[in-house]
Amino acid sequence: MTASLTRTQSFAKLAEQPSFDMIVVGGGATGLGTALDAASRGLRVAVFESHDFASGTSSRATKLAHGGVRYLAQGHIPLVREALRERSRLLANAPHNAHPLPFVMPSFKWWERPFYGVGLKVYDALSGAHGLGATEFLSSVETQQALPGIRSDGLSGGVRYWDGQFNDARLAIDLARTAASFGTLVFNYCKVDRLIEEAGKVVGVHVVDQETGQGYDVHSRCVINATGVWVDALRGAGVDPSATKPHMVRPSRGVHLVVSRDFMPTDSAMLIPKTRDGRVLFIVPWLGHLILGTTDTPVDAASREPYADTADVDFILGEAAHYLKRAPTRADVLSIWSGLRPLVQDVSAGSTKAISREHTIEIAANGLLTVTGGKWTTYRAMSEDVMAHALAAKLLPVGTSPDCITYDLPILGADSPCNTPDMARAGDSDFVRFAVEHEFARTVSDVLARRSRVLFLHAKAAEKLVPAVSESLIKHGVMNPDAASLVHLARQYQSCP
Ligand SMILES: Cc1cc2nc3c(=O)[nH]c(=O)nc-3n(C[C@H](O)[C@H](O)[C@H](O)COP(=O)(O)OP(=O)(O)OC[C@H]3O[C@@H](n4cnc5c(N)ncnc54)[C@H](O)[C@@H]3O)c2cc1C
Repeated sequence: MTASLTRTQSFAKLAEQPSFDMIVVGGGATGLGTALDAASRGLRVAVFESHDFASGTSSRATKLAHGGVRYLAQGHIPLVREALRERSRLLANAPHNAHPLPFVMPSFKWWERPFYGVGLKVYDALSGAHGLGATEFLSSVETQQALPGIRSDGLSGGVRYWDGQFNDARLAIDLARTAASFGTLVFNYCKVDRLIEEAGKVVGVHVVDQETGQGYDVHSRCVINATGVWVDALRGAGVDPSATKPHMVRPSRGVHLVVSRDFMPTDSAMLIPKTRDGRVLFIVPWLGHLILGTTDTPVDAASREPYADTADVDFILGEAAHYLKRAPTRADVLSIWSGLRPLVQDVSAGSTKAISREHTIEIAANGLLTVTGGKWTTYRAMSEDVMAHALAAKLLPVGTSPDCITYDLPILGADSPCNTPDMARAGDSDFVRFAVEHEFARTVSDVLARRSRVLFLHAKAAEKLVPAVSESLIKHGVMNPDAASLVHLARQYQSCP
């Protein structure tokens, strides 16, 4: 196993030859997936991420590789079918990261079991050869065995079905490594602050190394704007700032709470498809803890660390209390984090009401290709679609292969000691060395939030690990590991409003 290029080596290569077949802006699921697709077709690719890989939305998902049972109820059959196929691709291509997970929908009303059961049989049928297990009807006793801790009064039974679960931030790191193994230059902490245009067409970007402040002009005819909820800023970063109007994205905040697994000691997840106010609630076991969530609240600004508010927490804890025998309280919350969904507005209709959960691709008059929306599960199919659009718009070199090879391309990462669910190991020197040499870690937050997931699981435990991780980072050549940021974040993730 060879180490990835060091940051210094990557910048040296960039300075030597600042010209690429494709530049990808944004190092989340969408950008890294697109970079891998392009690089695996033989293109020369560079990725620029302003912060750390997956530090935007891609580390803050519910971590479900799923077809989207609720979209089925809304009749979005092609969307569900595609996601079910992609779910199985993820499980097959990154088995070290993703695995099948049983879900149980408990029923408290007589009609719920047959109603949801029939819907889930359709979900099975749509999975076809990609199915992970057959939907089963459970008695009340079987439901309690599958979901120990569930409130039993009024419980009439349940339905068990299968979806997948994965580690979102780690998958992003794995994608970055895999893209790098195909020759992609991947940079975190490198912000694109301007598009370079000639004769009205994008021919490159200006990037600034956030560690040194040094700027670089980097050239490509094909620039992919994969900046998630921040796409509108880059759409307006060319010669014509009004290119950002109308805005494409309306961010929507989703909050998760993490509590001890003792509240529901099981390897099955619980899904409440319709809570008392009609929303969805997941209670999902993950890395030895339980994730409770999530909410969906439109917000005006796309902040880097969106705060949860009292209403978010009241909803999640209130509904959890309704379904669990022992109700978690604010004092039981080990970590609380939020992410922003990039919901795409129907800009063509000039309407801000029609928002979609599918991905959207726009090629602007200056040639900038913007892709946003969709979900983690479908990142690979989105990337394939981006390539098809870039090819059709003649943004890529003549002779670029029209054939995508990521369908069964293995994703690196099985060798990483950072895959361990053991939180305490995040302070080990070996762990940190691997994170630095192979996984592009630059700060204490990179190690504790995304190489390991301690911050997301147990914010107090993360804070305790800061000195050890900071020391190890310095030992392995990182000059300024920025311990203060993690301490600040850990306090935010500990305080439940
Ligand atoms: C609460 C919640 C739960 C979810 N749960 C699931 C789930 O269970 N399953 C599922 O499949 N999907 C889920 N999703 C959806 C999924 O997480 C997103 O669709 C996906 O992560 C979006 O990835 P992205 O790469 O488009 O955006 P991001 O991950 O936000 O990446 C964009 C990146 O661009 C960078 N950037 C911005 N501006 C610049 C610039 N100027 N220069 C350089 N870089 C820049 C940002 O720092 C960021 O890292 C969930 C989303 C939310 C919010």
